[in-house]
Amino acid sequence: MNHRASPVGPPVGVFGGTFDPIHFGHLRTAFELLQVLRLSEVRFLPAGNPPHRESTVASPELRLQMVQAATRDQPGFIVDDREIRREGLSYSVDTMRTFRADYPDRSLCLIVGMDAFLGLPKWHQWRELLELVHVAVAHRPGWRAPTSGPLGELLVDRGTGRIDDLHEALSGRIFIHAGTQLEISSTEFRKLVAAGRDPRYLMPDAVRDIIQQTGCYRSKR
Ligand code: ATP
Repeated sequence: MNHRASPVGPPVGVFGGTFDPIHFGHLRTAFELLQVLRLSEVRFLPAGNPPHRESTVASPELRLQMVQAATRDQPGFIVDDREIRREGLSYSVDTMRTFRADYPDRSLCLIVGMDAFLGLPKWHQWRELLELVHVAVAHRPGWRAPTSGPLGELLVDRGTGRIDDLHEALSGRIFIHAGTQLEISSTEFRKLVAAGRDPRYLMPDAVRDIIQQTGCYRSKR
């Protein structure tokens, strides 16, 4: 199996999301995992047309622009626009296959928040994912790690607290990161802006500037 082969070089982090918009909850999580897991980079992967979510509020191009603005100054933060460029639905498993093809000898760590991890069994071909990548799960306020059901069993089988395990195999392990938990969500953020409030200090100023200039989250009254 894939996860028994030995990788060359440090793991590559992949952080997918709708990023509608990107905020400090995303950025702090990515930064901590970049450092803690000793990743070579975190590739931010804005979703094009996510199959399991309602359609986004800001356009793909604008969400991409905000991710670029938010990550520009941090070495090791890279924007990956493959899902935005791809036409049609993008299932995570298909996207991870493209990463596996691009990085055949590298360990890959898919970064998700705990809320997203709890929804994993609803993802298309979710068990295949762990043949392609490791999963790094960030705790998020209000969500608990599963102790039973398919994910509880998966954690018993694949869970690890040993970072070297992510460096020594290409895929197949799950690491839970109990780092700084910021209670910021894109949904709450959009409500705040629609109510005419200022999102300052929830995100980099460069992203706030784009939101204010485009009015993309203003309420459509
Ligand atoms: P929404 O409020 O609409 O659910 P979101 O804030 O979760 O949006 P997404 O773009 O859907 O933003 O999230 C992308 C990924 O980042 C998901 O895996 C999610 O769990 C994770 N994430 C989002 N916010 C945080 C946060 N504050 N702390 C840790 N992880 C987060």
